[in-house]
Amino acid sequence: MGIKQSIIKRKLEKELEIKGGVVFIDELSCDGCGECVSICPHKAIIMRALSNEEVKKLPFKGRLKVLVKGNRKANINQELCTACGKCMRVCHEFSIHKQAK
Ligand code: SF4
Ligand code: SF4
Repeated sequence: MGIKQSIIKRKLEKELEIKGGVVFIDELSCDGCGECVSICPHKAIIMRALSNEEVKKLPFKGRLKVLVKGNRKANINQELCTACGKCMRVCHEFSIHKQAK
């Protein structure tokens, strides 16, 4: 594992240690693979297609990702999410984070 990967992994483990908290998705780095949707035991994650207007407002890196991976992004319904962290472990882009409330 490279240095960058191990730093990200350590950050993830730290976030997972937070009791309760709020789980959220970084739309910029999400590539819409849908892995998190399948793993969520509470069906709290849905996929949403960004509109053309929303895509236009993204920074260059975000627009490039949409061009390569498509415009689907994962979104968490906070009403259903229990902050269990299962989705955080499966996201290969490390796009899902947890912070204290
Ligand atoms: S697993 Fe990660 S990259 Fe894939 S849809 Fe969910 S948040 Fe996006
Ligand atoms: S933290 Fe748990 S309940 Fe919340 S979206 Fe992720 S898998 Fe679902």
